[in-house]
Amino acid sequence: MRTRNIKIWISDSVLDSMRALADSSFPQETGGLLMGYFDDQSKDVVVTDIIGPGPKGSHKRMSFVPDYEFQEKEIARIYEETNRTSTYLGDWHTHPKGHASLSGQDLNTLCNIAFYPKARVPSPIMVLLAGNKAQWQVRFWQLQTTRRFFWKKTTLVNLNSHTF
Ligand SMILES: [Zn+2]
Repeated sequence: MRTRNIKIWISDSVLDSMRALADSSFPQETGGLLMGYFDDQSKDVVVTDIIGPGPKGSHKRMSFVPDYEFQEKEIARIYEETNRTSTYLGDWHTHPKGHASLSGQDLNTLCNIAFYPKARVPSPIMVLLAGNKAQWQVRFWQLQTTRRFFWKKTTLVNLNSHTF
C-alpha cells in the first residue's frame, strides 16, 4: 500500500521550547505531548503547541514518566484557548546521547495511541530529539493507519517538517 506524502508544520517557537525542555533535563530523558490538528484536505499535520513533562514528571537516563494530571489539564486548556481546534496529536521525547530512531517501546506507544479509541488519533505523531545538549537532531514520524475490511494496517512513515 502506498503511504501518503504528509508534511508536518511546526513553528520555530514550538521547536525552541521543545529544545529548551530537552536541554534542561539533559542527560536525563524528557518528553510530553503534541497538540494541533490534521488538515482535512491535505492530511498535513500542524503542531500548534507542545506540553512538557509537568512539575511531577520523573526523569531517568532511558525513560521518563510524565505528570499525567498536569498534562490532562494542559490538553483541556489548549483545546479551549484555540477555540477547540488544537487536540492531542501524539507524543514527543528525547534520546539523550542516543540514536535518532524509534525504539521498540516507542513503536508500542504509537500503536497504543492509534488503537486506543478515546485518544481519537488513528494516525498519531511522534517527535524525537536525539543527541546532545543544544545539538539536537529532530525527527518526525507518523504511524499511518488504514482500515482494510475487518482489520487495520499500520505503516511507520518519516515525515518532512516545515517550519513557520
Ligand atoms: Zn524513544
